[in-house]
Amino acid sequence: MTRPLWVDEKTRTASLEIGSSMLALIRELYPIGRSITGPGLRATVARLSEIVPLQVTEVPSGTRVFDWTVPDEWSVEEAFVETAGGHRVVDFNESNLHVVGYSRPVDAEMTLAELRPHLFSLPEHPDWIPYRTSYYSPSWGFCLADRVLKSLPDGRYRAVIRSRIAPGSLTLAEYVHRGATAEEVLIFAHDCHPSLANDNLSGLSVAIHLAAFLRSRATHYTYRFVFAPATIGSLTWLAANEASLPGIRHGLVLSLLGDSGPIHYKETRAGNLPIDRAAWHVLSTEFGGSKRLDFEPWGYDERQFNSPGIDLAVGRLTRTPNGEFPEYHTSADNPNFLSADALGESWLACLKVLEALDCDSRYVNLQPKGEPQLGRRGLYRSMGGYQDVPARQLALLWMLNLSDGANSILDIASRSRLPFGLIAGAAADLQQAGLLAPAPDAGLGDR
Ligand SMILES: [Zn+2]
Repeated sequence: MTRPLWVDEKTRTASLEIGSSMLALIRELYPIGRSITGPGLRATVARLSEIVPLQVTEVPSGTRVFDWTVPDEWSVEEAFVETAGGHRVVDFNESNLHVVGYSRPVDAEMTLAELRPHLFSLPEHPDWIPYRTSYYSPSWGFCLADRVLKSLPDGRYRAVIRSRIAPGSLTLAEYVHRGATAEEVLIFAHDCHPSLANDNLSGLSVAIHLAAFLRSRATHYTYRFVFAPATIGSLTWLAANEASLPGIRHGLVLSLLGDSGPIHYKETRAGNLPIDRAAWHVLSTEFGGSKRLDFEPWGYDERQFNSPGIDLAVGRLTRTPNGEFPEYHTSADNPNFLSADALGESWLACLKVLEALDCDSRYVNLQPKGEPQLGRRGLYRSMGGYQDVPARQLALLWMLNLSDGANSILDIASRSRLPFGLIAGAAADLQQAGLLAPAPDAGLGDR
């Protein structure tokens, strides 16, 4: 049976519009003070739930997750540094990046020299505020522009952080789209960063808009979208769902999808799985300038999914990778750093990668002795209206040549270096003309 393709010209046009609504969502979520626990995380999940209803799970502080423990919950009421005269030189109300994440409460007067070890800036970018956290070692601190730091006169200062660190819970959110099979594709995006846009409001926005697209669609696979804090969140989710992990066949971690750099696919630990082949085939044939990255045990939550005891087939899609653009983890990673076009293109690329897995299938050539006479069956004639006749013609010949029941559409697309959609279209035409039949195990059940 042919599985109808998801992406047509209408979807491509829609991706431009979807790019604009993704950027609008990012602007809306940007001011929220998120962390790995707490009210900002819940507010973010609640807003995403308005687009696609998410199932929310609260995991109590103190829960053991593999070698880690879910931390106490953190929230901030206010935080500032003021001069002896009461002039605020740093204020959490102006940017939530000003406070080191998980800062413990403080209200103390001190000299600039005493305050100095608690202040963090970026001398190489004097106007940017850095993003810092201290989740697991109790401390407190402020982040500020180096220009402001350098302008502070000697004297006494008052540092105030009215924060709360107390038992609570860590928020996980999921959306499951049921497909024809219970086998799953996992899409993961971290949601714990405060006012940072590319990292990772772009990933949240692309993921929730992929969920919205799939929602109204009949799919082969079941799709599980997970929104959780980085590291501790993915670990918590994995620990809570360990029994059902064998049902996950493919997966992607999504992040950094709104900047102007080329799309990067980071391969799985194994490096040669269907998700690796689907992602790289789609990117290399249809998204010019894309780059493939070797696996390394560093980066985002693909580290946890590819750990030896979990070993899931999860790759990662970003544009410019983490740490490779100067705005990374600073106040310069704001919505103005992103574009609707880049977000729309990233969304389309993700969709096409998933399509290449979901719509993949195997066929058998029913006329394998010599080339069948295509003209007699109207297959050459039917190409008259297309501008890409040579490619379509090649796609028919490749499909016939390699459809021995062992090669799938994705295999044939990779071998021929032709777009997946073109090969899948040829398969549909050939099947209609009676030249191809689904292979006995067309559903790729043994993958
Ligand atoms: Zn980050």
